[in-house]
Amino acid sequence: MAYDPNNIFARILRGEIPAWRVYEDERTLAFMDAMPQSDGHTLVLPKSPAENIFDLDPAMAAAVIQTGQQAAHAVRQAFKADGVMLVQYNGPVAGQTVFHFHLHVVPRYAGIPLLGHARSMAEGAVLEEHARRIRAAWPA
Ligand code: AMP
Repeated sequence: MAYDPNNIFARILRGEIPAWRVYEDERTLAFMDAMPQSDGHTLVLPKSPAENIFDLDPAMAAAVIQTGQQAAHAVRQAFKADGVMLVQYNGPVAGQTVFHFHLHVVPRYAGIPLLGHARSMAEGAVLEEHARRIRAAWPA
């Protein structure tokens, strides 16, 4: 499948549609997952047009992991998470639903099961508050 430049994350990257942004640098963007599986669920994207792990430039992969590590620190601190999952899907059969590479940074809380993947929209005000907390906890 060829990369679709009008996929929803490409449109967020271009600023055509809004997102609850938490961090941006020259190579990556992080924002709140709109259908979070736990409080603080954050996505990290490369700014380059890669569909999945197979066409992602290795230097951009390194940049995404670096930002993902920062996001893991931030969500753990902001939400007092007991653990953090980094997850990434490639291809519909593997569970990918948006075809611009992204890393899920998913806080885990003892005794609280994950919500379903891309199941229900969170309230905008809640996501805004969560984004604010993550921004405040982002490592220097
Ligand atoms: P995946 O299934 O790994 O491709 O994940 C796509 C993720 O993007 C899911 O967790 C969705 O909840 C999330 N998502 C879809 N549309 C948006 C959006 N407009 N803003 C933020 N997150 C989104």
